[in-house]
Amino acid sequence: MLLRHTPDTIVEREALTIQPAKTCQPVGAMYAALGVHGCLPHSHGSQGCCAYHRSSLTRHYKEPVMAATSSFTEGSSVFGGQANLLEAISNMFTIYNPDVIAIHTTCLSETIGDDIPQIVAKAKDEGRVPEGKYIIKANTPSYIGSHVVGFGNMVKGIAEGFATKQKKGNYINIIPGYVEPSDMGEVKRIVKSMGVDAVVFPDTDGVLNGPQTGHFDMYPRGGTTISNLKRIGGAKATLALGPIASGPAAKVLDTSFGVPCELLKLPIGLGATDDFVNALRALGGVVSDELELERGQLVDILTDMQQYFNDKKVALIGDPDHLVSLTQFLTDIGFKVRHVVTGTPGKKFVKRIMEAAGTEDINVREASDYFHMHQLIKNEKVDLIMGNSYAKYMSRDMDIPLVRIGFPIYDRIGHQYFPILGYRGGMRLIERILNVLMDYQDKTAPEEKFELIM
Ligand code: SF4
Repeated sequence: MLLRHTPDTIVEREALTIQPAKTCQPVGAMYAALGVHGCLPHSHGSQGCCAYHRSSLTRHYKEPVMAATSSFTEGSSVFGGQANLLEAISNMFTIYNPDVIAIHTTCLSETIGDDIPQIVAKAKDEGRVPEGKYIIKANTPSYIGSHVVGFGNMVKGIAEGFATKQKKGNYINIIPGYVEPSDMGEVKRIVKSMGVDAVVFPDTDGVLNGPQTGHFDMYPRGGTTISNLKRIGGAKATLALGPIASGPAAKVLDTSFGVPCELLKLPIGLGATDDFVNALRALGGVVSDELELERGQLVDILTDMQQYFNDKKVALIGDPDHLVSLTQFLTDIGFKVRHVVTGTPGKKFVKRIMEAAGTEDINVREASDYFHMHQLIKNEKVDLIMGNSYAKYMSRDMDIPLVRIGFPIYDRIGHQYFPILGYRGGMRLIERILNVLMDYQDKTAPEEKFELIM
């Protein structure tokens, strides 16, 4: 009943978003910065912005998220935030002693037009940046893009901040995309099992899925180290997983530092993981017995359970890199992907989804919202919805099972610890999809069709 006012008739809108399918750029920028060891993210704007970014991440990861803010007041909103940022840089290095400060802008500081490179240069001139410490930066105006775009901008900031032109070594860079800490861990495990030396950045594994140790660590054990980040300009190649989140940094390394890049889909599902493994093979990796076993197990599950997926209609809402790989995976195993909506703008999205689905007979919309998705489902009902926690309202209203995936997930746990990337991740994803479909079947089946076995 919560969504009882959503009408069936779809009216085209341009100047109105209802229930956005995205969060703001600095949320993604803050998440990316946390993937650098010893880094303190800094939000150049008002305290309210920073509180929102931190709480979004804390509610999703169930971990404390440390970040600082320039604490804009009326004065800084009118005259600019240079004085606040200079003082903040001194305070942060003095009080919290980070190795790196990662500054991102907000709507307010972007609208004022604060020149972050100039302010950082001034801070260095004035001796506010101690020897051996670093400041990286990204412009993240939130009236364009989304959290995924903000993530990509900060990863680009990391590349620009640490890469140098150097002699090429026998190792590669991997940019894992805007994925869970567990997924970044899975990428590292696959790469290691194939014997490839890789710098994975950013890396929130061990930062936002750490253990309870009984004491508070301002800078947890995980994160890409500075010594590794200093190597990225000398890699022989970069694999960028997910072009929206990882493409900008990979392209900077390619054009400015001579590190050739390959843009791949996020390795979600069999085909996209095969592509990732093949790219690693081309760079000298060897498929391990362990990986071969996992692939075989995934194929076995897909074969055994195929009849439960075949021709089931599904609606997907979330972030573009995830949605492309999911569309391909679900189509490959027999689902009919009917509606795909992302809040992130990007004209290529529609084409990418149609290619992944192998058809133009699919409702796809970029820069759209939950309201639109709800209307699509009202016009053509589906058997399954996949999306973040906000999709639970549609799921309840339409009595359609939901698999939570993407960001944010506020009302469930597990995403931090159990990956959905790679062959093992594919198995977990299939298990989750199958479980919600079977639970729904058990709940709604008439007495005479209620079976003990599947
Ligand atoms: S004002 Fe802009 S940067 Fe701040 S929380 Fe809102 S959308 Fe994000």
